[in-house]
Amino acid sequence: MSDLLTRRAQRLGPNVPTFYDRPVHLVRGEGLWLWDDTGKRYLDCYNNVPHVGHCHPHVVAAIARQAGTLNTHTRYLHTGVLDALDRITATLGHGLSQGIMVCTGSEANDIALRMAQAVTGATGIIATDNTYHGNTTATAQLSTRRPPIGGYPPHVRLVPAPESNTSAENFAAHVAKAIAELQAAGFGLSGMMLCPVFANEGLPNVAPGFLNATVRAVRDAGGLVLCDEVQPGFGRCGQWWGHDWLEIAPDVVTLGKPMANGHPVAAVIATEPVMQAFRTAFGYFNTFGGNPVSAAAVNATLDVIEADDLVNHAAAMGRHALDRMHALSHPAITEIRGNGLFFGAVLERDGQPATALAIRIVEEMKDRGVLIGRIGRHMNILKMRPPLPITAGQIDLAINTLADVLGAHEE
Ligand code: PMP
Repeated sequence: MSDLLTRRAQRLGPNVPTFYDRPVHLVRGEGLWLWDDTGKRYLDCYNNVPHVGHCHPHVVAAIARQAGTLNTHTRYLHTGVLDALDRITATLGHGLSQGIMVCTGSEANDIALRMAQAVTGATGIIATDNTYHGNTTATAQLSTRRPPIGGYPPHVRLVPAPESNTSAENFAAHVAKAIAELQAAGFGLSGMMLCPVFANEGLPNVAPGFLNATVRAVRDAGGLVLCDEVQPGFGRCGQWWGHDWLEIAPDVVTLGKPMANGHPVAAVIATEPVMQAFRTAFGYFNTFGGNPVSAAAVNATLDVIEADDLVNHAAAMGRHALDRMHALSHPAITEIRGNGLFFGAVLERDGQPATALAIRIVEEMKDRGVLIGRIGRHMNILKMRPPLPITAGQIDLAINTLADVLGAHEE
């Protein structure tokens, strides 16, 4: 392993993140399970990209079949991209009926930002102050882990990310203030981009209706509501989309990570008028986006979600997981958070974020063969986000292991 770390540092350069103090060298995956180079097996309770399970044979076969038949791009006619977008838009309401397939969530969000500019003629944009929307120049300006060189540009306003006890009115008031500032500065408002479960913010327990006042404020100012569904989308939270759960109607949604079970596919879906404004304002072509192999991967992933009823499964398993999480008793756990198969525990000591403890717990869980992660402003929130086909027995295994590992840190 140390050879591999040295090779990585030499070839990839410095500061390339790995998980864990002692990183894992994974060589194989199947369903909920991963194996490392020593043959050790891990239960994957972290990765949302292998949405229907690692290396699902139906998706693998569809990719292989299409790769052996034809792979071009969307300048030639092909049914694959249309079938995929037909099926996705059928799960979305609110007139979200037209889409562009791209390769990453960052690209999708980049387009969403440009759509908002095309519709409004304005550039002002709002996001939360503890989020991540991507790695392009424009989306990185809305991403707060590392501030952009030169600082945040003046057309970007970041409002305080909600906590579980933030009121809807308080959050909306910050948004209204940001809108007023953008208008006063002459940028106007193009829109607000947000993840409807505030995943990177730390998954606060906000209730349906939480964003109603915010959405009203954005709309009243002529802005668009851009929902980044990269994390909650495709059923993770027991409903097809995070905005379904929050009961809001976006103008644009962006999709990514789980969309093709690991094949690099993402998309932006908009209403017809929004798409028309975008297509009029910008020429857009994406060489790889929507290619026949990617489309086959999406369609096969959707096949499995539908055939195995994974959205309802996520709801049922999410209830089981949250019941088990709430039953955990440990002095450092101050809150259980979650929604469907996206859940976690806030760790604090003496009212302060217990980040060091969270790091140790994640590392020891890995040593015990269960992969989980951390989120939140202080990275002190344990994060569990398994592939959707997880069983109740596997959830029990993960949470029993968590109870044991936490138990070794009772002091
Ligand atoms: N939006 C959210 C909410 C994300 O969590 C991420 C990735 N972590 C992205 C966008 C960017 O997606 P990608 O890495 O595919 O560009």
